[in-house]
Amino acid sequence: MCEAEQHDHQPPSRRGLLRWGVAAAPAAVGIAALTWPTRATAAKPAAAGSGAYYEAARGDTLRGIATRFLGSEQRWTELYRLNRQVLDKSGEPRPGQRLELPESPDGAATRTFEPLPATAKPLPVPPEGYRLDRIGDAFYAVTAGGTQAAFLVTSAGVVVIDAPPSLAEALPAAIRRVTGRKVTHLVYSHDHSDHTANASAFGDVVRIAHTETAQRIKASQDPGRPMPTVTFDDRYRLDLGDQRLLLSYPGANHEAGNILIHAPRQRAAMMVDLVMPGWAPFRAWGTADSVPGVLRAHDRLARMDLDTYIGGHVHRLGTKEDIKVSREFVRDLWNATGKAIAATDMAPYFGKVEPGNNWAGFELYLQAVADQVEPVIHRKWLGRLGAVDVFTRENALTVALSRIVDAPRDL
Ligand SMILES: [Zn+2]
Repeated sequence: MCEAEQHDHQPPSRRGLLRWGVAAAPAAVGIAALTWPTRATAAKPAAAGSGAYYEAARGDTLRGIATRFLGSEQRWTELYRLNRQVLDKSGEPRPGQRLELPESPDGAATRTFEPLPATAKPLPVPPEGYRLDRIGDAFYAVTAGGTQAAFLVTSAGVVVIDAPPSLAEALPAAIRRVTGRKVTHLVYSHDHSDHTANASAFGDVVRIAHTETAQRIKASQDPGRPMPTVTFDDRYRLDLGDQRLLLSYPGANHEAGNILIHAPRQRAAMMVDLVMPGWAPFRAWGTADSVPGVLRAHDRLARMDLDTYIGGHVHRLGTKEDIKVSREFVRDLWNATGKAIAATDMAPYFGKVEPGNNWAGFELYLQAVADQVEPVIHRKWLGRLGAVDVFTRENALTVALSRIVDAPRDL
């Protein structure tokens, strides 16, 4: 891949030389500032970097360097990740500092990502092809391929929570492994198909959902998601045999109708697509119906006395600490975005575009807000949660819009 091994002090390719050193760079930035490793340095493990370096000049910023050499200002985050050990608190390079450049520096193909921290990585999967976690005496979580469902074994039958198509085989197999009892009840955590579209496979059971979920299921006309037979608005208590589930609704959050499922005896709660144990949030919390609702649901969860949390995705069960950390992350994102909005005057961005093109003016403004939020979140959270570098920018945009139009006064 790297010709430097045959030609010491030469760039990786002529194309690279042309695009980085000459064509892409303004005249003031000569090729002299870019250096490639000698055979000796190339031999050391390259990690995510390409082995190419840039020596920072006075006034250089990561954004400027990314624009010049990586083809996109937004790729500054890659520079930050590769060089954060040597950057000082300002996050910007000092003159003369050597910055490692990422692979594919012409910006063409691969965006690189931060490795997952240990607490976000997949756990070993047993030969059955899924993980089965027992919670307390009778509550179980089934996890495979990054999706999770749960079931509660009672003396009068089994209650299944969610029926993800991706667990179509694993979930019934896990139930059979634990008990000979039949599934008598199914709880829809919310309507999203990745968690529910295999519900019909459990046949004619009692199906419980929030009224909003029932409406959405009706509208989607999916035979895999038969209509709930029992609906509720605020709270529902399911007593079955010797076991109990408390269902409650903290208001629209990730989805309108997305409920909190509490198993008090097992000191466990399940709330899907909200807290992702060990991970930063998914893109826009998966088309969140209410970003303020996402924060409020975190508050509700954080007040509960729990040992175990089931989030419906990623690779493991969560703890009270995971809820606390996720809440802190979302709060940080919310607060940093609020600060950036307060510090950014909208008018100049509208002045930069064709008069009347409000979309374009707003887009420049939102991107300027995200420019300020992203480094704040990266500085604190990279390495603490998985995939902080993947969706933080988009989530800052989502939060910015929510702060402007939802404008909640309680947060
Ligand atoms: Zn969902």
